[in-house]
Amino acid sequence: MLGLAKRVKAKILQASTSEVYGDPAVHPQTEDYWGNVNPIGPRSCYDEGKRCAETLFFDYRRQHNLPIKVARIFNTYGPRMHPSDGRVVSNFIVQALKNQDITVYGDGTHTRSFCYVDDLVDGLIRLMGTPHDVTGPVNLGNPGEFTIRELAQTIIDMTGSSSRIIHMPLPTDDPKQRRPDISAANELFGWKPTVALSDGLRNTIGYFERLLGGSQLATHDA
Ligand code: UDP
Repeated sequence: MLGLAKRVKAKILQASTSEVYGDPAVHPQTEDYWGNVNPIGPRSCYDEGKRCAETLFFDYRRQHNLPIKVARIFNTYGPRMHPSDGRVVSNFIVQALKNQDITVYGDGTHTRSFCYVDDLVDGLIRLMGTPHDVTGPVNLGNPGEFTIRELAQTIIDMTGSSSRIIHMPLPTDDPKQRRPDISAANELFGWKPTVALSDGLRNTIGYFERLLGGSQLATHDA
């Protein structure tokens, strides 16, 4: 893609990730933190793949002056996630709506910061509109930080579900904490998220209610 962008003189965005920080020893994470990534673990192909992609973007910038933009995207959620996506927000909402057990991995005290999709898209569009000298990497995420257990309880409360919380093993190298410092995005292109977790979850729960209701109907009809 970098070769193609160079040939057709296109601006190119890398949708990078907070995973480049690994299990971070610096909290909240700023863009100048180099991260704490296991190079040989089960998550490494994703983390190191994204880190390598950032390297290539900056090599193309240095060698060919390619107009690059690198966004480090933190946990994002919203309507149109796939119900079997496997990520925490979609898993918990689908489980809650079906009154199934909510699968908290580990003790649930580890944290994530959840950004609503509309806020993220706004950030990406603003980043793409910045001048040539703005390359990033720039964090895009919502600094509101929650434990996974808090997220589970919030979703149970909002759905009125009878689901119980159960605990399952924490995946290897699962980061213990994650929260973006978004000062750079705010200074460079005036961005900060506007959708509170409760509002974003309400929309996302509504989406999954319609989706699951629809699919149950479709199964019944078939
Ligand atoms: N998680 C969980 N139950 C699930 C799915 C995920 O407890 O059913 C945890 C997971 O271990 C991680 C957090 O929720 O600590 C966020 O997981 P996700 O896969 O959504 O994103 P990432 O790990 O990439 O931040």
